[in-house]
Amino acid sequence: MNVMTKRWYVDPGRAEAAERELAEAGGLLARGGTVAFPTETVYGLGADAGNTAAVEAIFAAKGRPSDNPLIVHIADIAQLADLVHEPDAVSRRLMDAFWPGPLTVVLPVRTGSVSPRVTAGLPTVAVRMPDHPVALALLRAAGCPVAAPSANRSGRPSPTLAEHVLGDLGGRIDGIVDGGPTGVGVESTVVAVEAGGRLIRVLRPGGVTVADLRRAAPDVDVTAETAAEEAEAPRSPGMKYAHYAPRGRLEIVQGDAEKRAAWVRASLAEAKRAGERTGVLTVRERIGLFEADLVVGCGSAGNMREAARDLYAALRRFDEAGITHILAEGYESTEGIGLAVMNRLNKAAGHRIVRVR
Ligand code: AMP
Ligand code: MG
Repeated sequence: MNVMTKRWYVDPGRAEAAERELAEAGGLLARGGTVAFPTETVYGLGADAGNTAAVEAIFAAKGRPSDNPLIVHIADIAQLADLVHEPDAVSRRLMDAFWPGPLTVVLPVRTGSVSPRVTAGLPTVAVRMPDHPVALALLRAAGCPVAAPSANRSGRPSPTLAEHVLGDLGGRIDGIVDGGPTGVGVESTVVAVEAGGRLIRVLRPGGVTVADLRRAAPDVDVTAETAAEEAEAPRSPGMKYAHYAPRGRLEIVQGDAEKRAAWVRASLAEAKRAGERTGVLTVRERIGLFEADLVVGCGSAGNMREAARDLYAALRRFDEAGITHILAEGYESTEGIGLAVMNRLNKAAGHRIVRVR
């Protein structure tokens, strides 16, 4: 694949002044092109959800396994009626509470409303309305529901800057709307309402936290328990594949702060002797504790929002520096968005986790 990837710059603060750029990019989507765009979570790679050839171009550009379904993005709640059967009352409440925003709701699909490649044969479709002025303006300009997974090569860290998208997909996609850095930094929370409206199951943790969901639906149980499913046939195929990974071997170390540091230092010394290029991922306060070819501070102990925002860019820095052996200190908080951060970090490490005590 080698196409010219057209780039439009749109300032998120002045999306209304970019009518020409958005009309061009939206027109490209409407004609079956693939266009990357910023959202409040990460950059997405969009295509007309009803156009099978366009959707196939997403899978080809990403190198994505075809059984991993795509999230459909809409700009207006009125678009929902064509896509899905009447949503249950709990799903409705969640959409009212969090849209536009980083929440994806899995709903019963109306057969034929989107390409079967979008749903990967499931009887459901995952839908969200992004909270980003450029994304919303582009979706309106396209005039169709837009299927959009994260705009990275499959398995790589998701893109939070246009440069990340172009590094992975430049020459493989038709265009990119560059709206600068994204906000939340990790992908949307994916939920499915089950048990006749008595349970909200978090299929993928993200920007909307379990506590947020409980507040919006205090009378409904919320579970983020995914371990069981991960072992079986995945219901959300995103659970199945290696994800978010840098090129170097990444290992997480968890446990007592002092022992952790000692373990990382010993492990670095050993890796250096073996001729590895070494890296450490830690919180900003602790970067002085380690000597490696690259030490990256991502967030601070008390600020998991910041860790989420910076995580993928941090993982990509190790690749840029040619690091082959990366040790990551696990974050202590799995509360709130910390759950999404540790979920992504665990997957990036292929679940290689060491516990010291
Ligand atoms: P990404 O491709 O990075 O945007 O991630 C999309 C996520 O949404 C993946 O984890 C998918 O497995 C999940 N997803 C999409 N459609 C569905 C669906 N119908 N049911 C369950 N999960 C879905
Ligand atoms: Mg992805």
